[in-house]
Amino acid sequence: MTETDFMRYAIELSRRKMQEIGAAPFAAVIVRDGEIVGEGVNTVLADHDPTLHGEVAAIRDACKRLGTFDLSGCDIYTSCEPCEMCVAAIWWARLDRVFYANALADTNHLMPIDGLTQDIRRPIGERSAPARQLLAKEAFDVIKQWVDSGEAAKLMTRPERRL
Ligand SMILES: [Zn+2]
Repeated sequence: MTETDFMRYAIELSRRKMQEIGAAPFAAVIVRDGEIVGEGVNTVLADHDPTLHGEVAAIRDACKRLGTFDLSGCDIYTSCEPCEMCVAAIWWARLDRVFYANALADTNHLMPIDGLTQDIRRPIGERSAPARQLLAKEAFDVIKQWVDSGEAAKLMTRPERRL
């Protein structure tokens, strides 16, 4: 399959799941070595889960199938440019490349998500859900213990990235 085949599959998945189960029409597939190793669709409404965007669902599926949280060596094909949450999920999953169909700039008049971008850019205490820091020292000690144990390195070591 070619890059456009994978993208067409993602778009068709978004259309099919919208018609079959009323999913929001955003789907993604994860590809490794020319094979689909994960796929997902936006089921925020059906699953009552605000984090279940197509990209997150595809990442979860690929990680489960491959038995790893590290998807380096894989690409994601998504029917719409990822939102900031999904950009973060893609970063944490260490995906190699992102292919997208719709650009957010082109869909923004249909479903504006500008508020998310603005919220993320504000300082943490000025966001729509303002945050307050509590018990920092106690929480820091737990993280320090984890880092000192060597476990943190498994999550924090990243492969060389192309920038
Ligand atoms: Zn998203």
